[in-house]
Amino acid sequence: MSTPQIIPPGSTIGILGGGQLGRMTALAAARLGYRCLVYAPDEHSIAGDVAAGYVRGDYDDTDALARFARRVDVITYEFENVPEAAVVACLEHKPVRPGVTPIHVAQHRLREKQFFATLGIGTADYQPVRNEAELAAATALPGILKTCREGYDGKGQARVHDRASLEAAWERLGRRECILEALVDFRCEVSAIVARGLDGAMRCFPIGLNDHRDGILHTTTVPADLAAETLAMAERFGLALAQGLDLVGLVALEMFVTQDGTVLANEMAPRPHNSGHWTIDACATSQFEQLVRAICGLPLGPVDVTAPSRMENLIGEEATD
Ligand code: ATP
Ligand code: MG
Repeated sequence: MSTPQIIPPGSTIGILGGGQLGRMTALAAARLGYRCLVYAPDEHSIAGDVAAGYVRGDYDDTDALARFARRVDVITYEFENVPEAAVVACLEHKPVRPGVTPIHVAQHRLREKQFFATLGIGTADYQPVRNEAELAAATALPGILKTCREGYDGKGQARVHDRASLEAAWERLGRRECILEALVDFRCEVSAIVARGLDGAMRCFPIGLNDHRDGILHTTTVPADLAAETLAMAERFGLALAQGLDLVGLVALEMFVTQDGTVLANEMAPRPHNSGHWTIDACATSQFEQLVRAICGLPLGPVDVTAPSRMENLIGEEATD
């Protein structure tokens, strides 16, 4: 695209992906005066239910993507595993924000760790495990073996204690491209959610203190009761990431806080994040409104906490119990 464009209210935002994050983005967009068109392969989409329109199409259907793109003014995505080729296909017609680079990096754990290093963002020790030779050379034990691609909610991961369990785990994961990460003895987990506008302005939401159960986010508490230096380091990493990706939109960075208060990055997601749902009720601007503001070139909203909060992440049937 040529010069960065401001997308005024009344315009249409295209959303790739039809899930809950898309749904909440569409609701926030409507309040700001935008229409949303949702694109996803499923017959039914909960984001489509609250949007101005729903286009059902596969992510490799470039004709359908082109027709979708022509009907909107700017495009975003609500999950980071949207195929890169689909984003590139959309980009031929309309601006895609946050862009291609963020998903290119986020879709591959090894690339992601290497990218963090270029920005001075610390991580756990790790080694690539992509073949027999790398398997034999891997030393980050005890550790967690993770597939480089398509992991979520703790899937595609195995805790390994010694060489025998490492080798068995790599077999079980189908000898796919993996990364072995040293097990971090963390005190707690935190996340930074950063918005970056069309003009390069950035705002980091207050750091969330996250509790995971069985590899899945369980609760987020804000304000996080942690040392000021730890919170500052987490925020600095989040801001460095948003800047380093040159993104326009939102990025969430999940991090570990070690026993001595050092922060290590785990993974990122260039989209609204489950650990940011507290912003709907307890922040001056919700993460969804902030995303819409960023991708449309509006000024970013304030991120002051309006009330202390604890968000509980309800999964599936828990929501109706
Ligand atoms: P999600 O989609 O829920 O973020 P995921 O499948 O992408 O999950 P990770 O975020 O890598 O997986 O890991 C899930 C959880 O497992 C982390 O939040 C953390 O609690 C634990 N974990 C992951 N890596 C490590 C590590 N190197 N050391 C200690 N614990 C870890
Ligand atoms: Mg994670």
